[in-house]
Amino acid sequence: MADAPGAAASLAAAKARLDRLDLYPRRVRIDRVRVLELPWLFRLPWFRRFDGYAAWPLILLRQPLARTPPDLLCHELCHVWQMQHRPLRMPLSYLRTGYARNPYEAEARRAVEATR
Ligand SMILES: [Zn+2]
Repeated sequence: MADAPGAAASLAAAKARLDRLDLYPRRVRIDRVRVLELPWLFRLPWFRRFDGYAAWPLILLRQPLARTPPDLLCHELCHVWQMQHRPLRMPLSYLRTGYARNPYEAEARRAVEATR
């Protein structure tokens, strides 16, 4: 599956925002991150509530990247960053706390706001 057109530049821009923060010891790495546009995925029950989804090195988008707000990509890249440091604890936290009150969600929202 091909990366979204413009993925490299968009990831670099989102990384530049996150690099201003010191949430984790190492900066986010984007060399292996892939950005995929998968509108059909977001019609499935689990994904319906989301516009973007991060799973380790993958960022999945409902809309074409060209129509995706930079804040959303930055939010999802923050989740990639979290998983680079906490590859199990972070995703498992959603089972423990659910989505709405998840601390990694709150952290990703704060990261977007702090770098806007
Ligand atoms: Zn999120």
